[in-house]
Amino acid sequence: MRIDVVSIFPEYLAPLELSLIGKARQDGILQLNVHDLRSFTTDKHRTVDDTPYGGGAGMVMKPEPWAQALEAVSQGGASKPVLIVPSPAGERFTQALAYELAEEQQLVFACGRYEGIDERVIDWAREHFTVRPVSLGDYVLNGGEVAVLAMVEAIGRLLPGVVGNPESLIEESHSDGLLEYPVYTKPSSWREHEVPAVLLSGNHGKIAQWRRHEQFRRTVERRPDLMDTFDAGQLSRADRNALAELGYDVVGGRLRKRPEGGPQG
Ligand code: SAM
Repeated sequence: MRIDVVSIFPEYLAPLELSLIGKARQDGILQLNVHDLRSFTTDKHRTVDDTPYGGGAGMVMKPEPWAQALEAVSQGGASKPVLIVPSPAGERFTQALAYELAEEQQLVFACGRYEGIDERVIDWAREHFTVRPVSLGDYVLNGGEVAVLAMVEAIGRLLPGVVGNPESLIEESHSDGLLEYPVYTKPSSWREHEVPAVLLSGNHGKIAQWRRHEQFRRTVERRPDLMDTFDAGQLSRADRNALAELGYDVVGGRLRKRPEGGPQG
């Protein structure tokens, strides 16, 4: 996969030289280039921003350097590259989107700063790219770089050969709509806190059942919103029993929280 990142702070992306993503670059799995937006300006001050039309606070990124930069990094080819525009006003970045983007040949990330990029850049770019404004979450960062670090890491680790044991990707939080179960390592007893006995039992069936139950328990406790969208079609009888104990019944292929005090379905 090829990834191009355009930013006025290329140094911000230096962590992408480290750890698994850095290794993926060295191994040629990921070709990642970081470009300085200012090198696509033509004036002596290397200006990338100006005041907003209509007035108001802050500055807006000028269209021309962006057009020059995006034209320079677009590889062309059979399919349009995907242009990801980090923005708090974009669709939410999720594990499902990470999987989708990991299938692409080229991703281009346009890091906004100030009040963002002149909207005409987004409209114009649709001729050359599949454009996706993407938000890391419902909060506002100072720039797109931190969002790009997170997204490149989440996408990059899904590329074949990046994570040593691909099995570890399958059981993670969000891979099946649930959060991951808690994990433990040695020693089995630490500061009077014990590892759950079932994990020391050697009974793999019981361990799998315990982990599944913990996934449900944790998701109900920390992210009940995920229970609303969980596909209940994939549930075993044991799953349904575990969920019933947590106050959830299966109704029409979806999980429904039982009203307080209601009878178990
Ligand atoms: N005025 C913009 C708004 O309210 O939508 C926010 C601009 S923000 C200060 C500057 C830049 O940070 C954005 O252009 C975007 O690149 C990035 N950014 C801020 N919050 C983000 C988020 N939640 N997800 C992704 N990128 C974000």
